[in-house]
Amino acid sequence: MAEEPVVRVALDVPLSRTFDYLPPATGRLQPGVRVRVPFGRRQQIGLILAVAESSALPRKRLKRVLEVIDDTPLLGEPELWLIRFTGDYYHHPIGEVVATALPALLRRGRSLHAAEHAADVKFAASEAAAGVDIETLARRAPRQAGLLAALRTAGDDGLDVDTLNAREPGWRRAVKALTDKGLAKRFETRADSFERADARPAETGPVLNPEQRAAVEAVHDRHGFGAFVLDGVTGSGKTEVYLQLIERAHADGRQVLVLVPEIGLTPQLVSRFSRRLGEEPALLHSALSDRERLHTWRLAREGAAKLILGTRSAVFVPLARPGLIIVDEEHDHSLKQHEGLRYSARDLAVARAARAEVPIVLGSATPSLELLSHCRDGRYTHLSLPRRAGAARPPRIELVDLSLHADREGLSDVLADAVERHVTAGGQALLYLNRRGFAPTLICTACGHVAVCTRCDARMTVHADDGRLRCHHCGSSRPLDPACGECGAKVRPLGAGTQRLEAALKARFPERRLRRIDSDSTQTKGAIHAALAEAVEGGADILVGTQMLSKGHHFPKLTLVGVVNADQGLFGTDFRADERLAQSIVQVAGRAGREDRRGEVLIQTAFPAHPFWKRLIDGGYPAVAECALEEREAAQWPPFSRLALIRSSAHRRGDAHAFLDYARETVSDTERSAIEVLGPVDAPLARRAGRYRAQLLLRSRDRGALHALLRRLRPILENSPTARRVRWSVDVDPVGLF
Ligand code: ADP
Ligand code: ZN
Repeated sequence: MAEEPVVRVALDVPLSRTFDYLPPATGRLQPGVRVRVPFGRRQQIGLILAVAESSALPRKRLKRVLEVIDDTPLLGEPELWLIRFTGDYYHHPIGEVVATALPALLRRGRSLHAAEHAADVKFAASEAAAGVDIETLARRAPRQAGLLAALRTAGDDGLDVDTLNAREPGWRRAVKALTDKGLAKRFETRADSFERADARPAETGPVLNPEQRAAVEAVHDRHGFGAFVLDGVTGSGKTEVYLQLIERAHADGRQVLVLVPEIGLTPQLVSRFSRRLGEEPALLHSALSDRERLHTWRLAREGAAKLILGTRSAVFVPLARPGLIIVDEEHDHSLKQHEGLRYSARDLAVARAARAEVPIVLGSATPSLELLSHCRDGRYTHLSLPRRAGAARPPRIELVDLSLHADREGLSDVLADAVERHVTAGGQALLYLNRRGFAPTLICTACGHVAVCTRCDARMTVHADDGRLRCHHCGSSRPLDPACGECGAKVRPLGAGTQRLEAALKARFPERRLRRIDSDSTQTKGAIHAALAEAVEGGADILVGTQMLSKGHHFPKLTLVGVVNADQGLFGTDFRADERLAQSIVQVAGRAGREDRRGEVLIQTAFPAHPFWKRLIDGGYPAVAECALEEREAAQWPPFSRLALIRSSAHRRGDAHAFLDYARETVSDTERSAIEVLGPVDAPLARRAGRYRAQLLLRSRDRGALHALLRRLRPILENSPTARRVRWSVDVDPVGLF
């Protein structure tokens, strides 16, 4: 008699292995199906990754699957491949990769169809309802009147069951009465959007310029995989290229996945896509409810959603008929996850496109050096949109020498005069300062003592609105004491954050409408979108903000951009410092003069002679990138080498280091011939929230050797006695060494 098969199950535990089980009494076992299994003294939900003939463990030690949850696989082979690839490439526990890839409700064992009913069924007011007088109806049937009013406000989009449950108690009876009278109608959003009858007519876009057309043709002519870097200054019409490519993919009956950075997924972008394509894209982002997320995930999996627009984790969404993947603002670091499974959605998207044999377009005004270097190697195709589309011209960039022009609370007279000039002429000004709070430092006027965080190796930031000192690393805060804790003399804030700049602008321009946009001013849900919408409509003359303001937004009236403190990045220690500084300046500068009026950009710096500025002003981002690539090659930093960073943290500094010492000693001499082992050293922020942090850097030109080492190292570290006293992680292709 043939022996029963065993199943390899991925469980959400921090171990990089699968677990073998015997099949249950009933239920079909296939990869991609969820099962409930005994694990220790508990039960866990897991995903079958493989069905195998034998196990390394003796059969009598194997436990049996308790229940098979799905009758058909949730994930097909391409998605399972992506999960395995992610686990292998990032050397991360496979069960945690599965947990990242699946929506929360599925993780918890709910049915794939759990969200179906509520999210799909909607009610809307009928045309006849327009003539109903709500007040008259309210006298006889207040519930119906209330519901009808709500449905009328919702318009054609209607309200779904979840919303009705939350907002209109007793709605089911009321909606039945309204439907019977022909005042309300029920509909399902589930219909396949490829042939949906209610799709609105799409707006037609502009006629493409020759460069845009060439880009569209190059991608469309590629049958099969190809990676294309769409390198175009802001306003050069990258989004138009995306739109045309999406239309073509849809015409072929194919789905398109568009990934954007968290902050890039603005209502502006979504409405542009839906106006032009004639229907709503399916959205996947962090603000969705679990049900909404599952709903979108399922529509994508079934092929019913034609366009999926999402942030980082959407890279894992299953697609029935993929035709094209687009990554917008590919240089943005929010496409990389900075904790847990530290994956780059951009890089996984490329792997996914290759596996699915579809093209991928990676767009940016400031392409990362990794991608530029792939273009030089000929591995990726460089598509360039060198000029702004339509009438807009590139902004004029000038430096303001802070050693000549006194900088009062962050604002030099030159910059203040420019604000005056632009606002008087009917334009809008944006002052960019990537530092929130009132002042980054509180210093004693007598002894020079600086207020520091008790839990981190960091200074406290002064916050003026509530008179507190806050640590931007651990979030702790305490009241601001006007007397020095050391000597009792008076303290004063040093340097400027966005709040101080805002105060200075208020004093100087009392008549002007001012709006500060940073994470302090936009804490409530939706506040950021409201503030940006107001800014777009010209509801503020002067905008002050952090990098939140610098990305992707289109402010029609904006003509002046002031970079208030550019020097923060000028002497950065990280090997990416120049690339990042140039990216942030070029991105924020790209907000200026996007329509008919020419933009002006003023950059305040105390070091106007620094060679970085000449490169940036004369040659733009390409010149900075060129020079940075040379420096990286000379110093053997990526993209000319590969990095992996092992981090550890512990309550005692010695423990954090001991773990990494152990890792270091594990590397053999043979491995060292191909791989440099640097450290362990204290992390740049050596103590954070009471934990000591250390890191060990592995660097190699040989990707294969580096990965072979990590593969060998991971289980050794998992079982190391020193691991119990630390939190540790492996970061493959870290974006920063901090
Ligand atoms: P990007 O995505 O590169 O920032 P967009 O696609 O948003 O650029 O284009 C910037 C502006 O120029 C938009 O208002 C867009 O409608 C317009 N535009 C784009 N392509 C063309 C074109 N070929 N002709 C006229 N206007 C265009
Ligand atoms: Zn702190």
